[in-house]
Amino acid sequence: MAVEPLEWDTPLFQTAITQYEQALPHADVDAAAAARLRFPERAVMVSVPVRLDDGTWSVFPAYRVKHSSVLGPTKGGIRYDPHVSLGECAALSMWMTWKCALLRLPYGGAKGGVRCDPRQLSLAEVQRVTRRYTAEMMSVIGPQEDIPAPDMATNEQTMAWMMDTYSMQKGYAVPEIVTGKPISIGGSIFRNEATGVGVVMVVERACERLGWRLRDQRCVVQGFGKVGGIAAHDLVHRGAKVIAVSDFSGGVHASDGLDLEHVQRWVDEHGSLAGYAEADHVSNAELLELHCDVLVLAALENQLTGANAHRVNAKLIAEGANGPTSVEADTILADRGILVLPDVLTNAGGVTVSYFEWVQDLGRLFWNRNEIRARLGEKMSDAFDRVWSLSLQRDLSLRTAALVGGIREVAAALSARGIYP
Ligand code: GLU
Repeated sequence: MAVEPLEWDTPLFQTAITQYEQALPHADVDAAAAARLRFPERAVMVSVPVRLDDGTWSVFPAYRVKHSSVLGPTKGGIRYDPHVSLGECAALSMWMTWKCALLRLPYGGAKGGVRCDPRQLSLAEVQRVTRRYTAEMMSVIGPQEDIPAPDMATNEQTMAWMMDTYSMQKGYAVPEIVTGKPISIGGSIFRNEATGVGVVMVVERACERLGWRLRDQRCVVQGFGKVGGIAAHDLVHRGAKVIAVSDFSGGVHASDGLDLEHVQRWVDEHGSLAGYAEADHVSNAELLELHCDVLVLAALENQLTGANAHRVNAKLIAEGANGPTSVEADTILADRGILVLPDVLTNAGGVTVSYFEWVQDLGRLFWNRNEIRARLGEKMSDAFDRVWSLSLQRDLSLRTAALVGGIREVAAALSARGIYP
């Protein structure tokens, strides 16, 4: 029985559903599981009243959507952004489910956030938003139920406030309630770098399969934050050339390669790339169309669409962000022979080290950097190899192969458990 449209039925959720439907025929899933997994299990919407520094009040809509708890607690980030909506969280929670399952982490997907403009808020205001959001979500989060993590505009400090708010309610420290915390309160070594380094691990593995050398690649990186910034530095560290990077203020480009240390110092001092004098400035739209070998998308969703995909001048695209390529763009890029390394595989380093953090917290036993990096490498390579082989065997795009890999894991568990009652 068709009951659509549903409250979360937005363009981004439609993208997630269309990708799911493209993967389903190849995933051999029973009809009940296939129908069930089209829906998030639970969607919570609250409003977060916050006193601003000037004494006035704002009330922000906020969400937490859990897509699937079949494999374990739900897991996913919390974002602070003016575009946060029920539909966005629903789409992102579904992608988290496939991502966790593909990486064989014992989690389902979730995503949440507060619809606010973090650039307009002081640190004290962000702290009040975070603590009230956490208090509103007390009954739906938990170390065995749902474990938040950083996402757009949230970070270690945000997670520390969440952990503290939750722990104060419980009466004892509960480090395992969130991941991406500071190391001083049970965070994991390497969590900060994990998403960006994971992106480069996937790019490197893809280059190997294609017979390319990473050090010959000229790369453009959209985004210079927690994911893009780390990925850009790691690409250079591994010998590749980064010829352009961007942030919310626009992009900088030097066809001989950027001096990233210099760029980083500028950003640390001035807060953005604006005004950087040692390279040409390009708009975000121009950056996406620069001539390069590898284009890393590590900023926002919906960046390559039907409107610009035919002007992309890269050979390989790596999705560090979630959902940066629309369904239409996927088709255009495939027709043009441009390979897309999909988000659910490419940016999975973050949630993988989040899983390591949670395991370390639960066991109260902490691992060293080499151990974590090696385990991350194993997990990413294993998932990459499964996706690559399936894509070759069944003649599927890497995205569809990655989704098939994730969907099969969840559907097998759901079929084994059965649908309650
Ligand atoms: N927000 C990140 C993601 O989209 C990390 C989630 C996590 O570590 O739980 O994958």
